[in-house]
Amino acid sequence: MDVPSITVPQADPGAAYRAQQDAIDAAVGRVLASGWYILGGEGAAFEREYAAWMEQKRAIGCANGTDALMLILRGLGIGPGMTVATVSHTAVATVAAIEMVGATPLLLDIDPDTYTMDPDELVAVLEDPPPGLPPIRAVIPVHLYGHPCDLRPMVVACRAAGVAVIEDCAQAHGALLEGGRVGRFGDAAAFSLYPTKNLGALGDAGVLTTDDEALAERIAAIRQYGWKQRYLSDTVGVNSRLDEMQAAILRVRLPLLEAANARRRAIAAAYDAALAGGPIAAPSCRPGVEHVYHQYVVRSPDREALAARLRARGIATAVHYPAAVHQQLAYFGRIALGPAACAETELAAREVLSLPIYPELTDEQVETVCAALRAEAR
Ligand SMILES: *Cc1c(COP(=O)(O)O)cnc(C)c1O
Repeated sequence: MDVPSITVPQADPGAAYRAQQDAIDAAVGRVLASGWYILGGEGAAFEREYAAWMEQKRAIGCANGTDALMLILRGLGIGPGMTVATVSHTAVATVAAIEMVGATPLLLDIDPDTYTMDPDELVAVLEDPPPGLPPIRAVIPVHLYGHPCDLRPMVVACRAAGVAVIEDCAQAHGALLEGGRVGRFGDAAAFSLYPTKNLGALGDAGVLTTDDEALAERIAAIRQYGWKQRYLSDTVGVNSRLDEMQAAILRVRLPLLEAANARRRAIAAAYDAALAGGPIAAPSCRPGVEHVYHQYVVRSPDREALAARLRARGIATAVHYPAAVHQQLAYFGRIALGPAACAETELAAREVLSLPIYPELTDEQVETVCAALRAEAR
């Protein structure tokens, strides 16, 4: 059988570079000529600009999104003998960061409509922690696919229990909850700047934000060997710095982010319309939130067949994620689950399918996808 060539890739970071090539080449050229390549003026300017955009006192650049989570946990003093609750339906990085600091993960189930942490289960485990686990000291809600979590009840419950809230915003730069950007509701927020994220570098990068100056100072030291002063480690740190070329590229892209998110929403609206009346439900969006569609995720009990029909029309898809974290070999059988036993999570892992959605999709590519979705709806 002939395999048709892909005309609509699932992601296309090269297209994003080509769209901004002159500005990015100029920014990289400026760094190359400067003779200063790590933690310099570009990084400091990006941190100021990102903090201002987030309306938070501080932003700290680092090597990647996993490290951003790890640095926040370290800065908050979370480590061995403490439990951190999060979800199993997430990038494995969320759980990896918890184990990087020696803490114990507890994985909760999701609300199947929004794929984000079930607030009722969180409230239940805070009131009645699972036996045999160290005390819960932090919670990491993940704004998965660009849809904000139902944070309000979670933050209220965590504050009452003296538990820190760390928002995993790796897929949700610019998403709005109650009119405010996600990342402003907890104690600190972690962002990946991986090339395909809503705000992406052209290599690895990450950033974290907080309104807590003392926490920011501790994290700034941990990021570079525990230094406050060069060559003098006051605390035990790591090396997780943001390089100047990535910072300069991110400064080109940050002012374009709102327009890029608006383009993602427009593409999502076109897909929603094409699916209307058919058997495949459009992704839901809780009232009062603004989704930024890092991924446009549909469900099908026969996902492989749906993916094959789309592929036959030149459309590539992906699965985020084919196995929940607790189902993966590295974690299987040794990670604590909440009372819901991640039942909705396991069902989602079998059914989710991510369609292509990124700002550089052409109108023609969007129409190719819409035509395929209309064919599914007939
Ligand atoms: C991408 C991602 C991360 C990790 O970011 P890296 O930059 O790849 O380390 C963490 N959490 C979520 C939800 C992600 O999507």
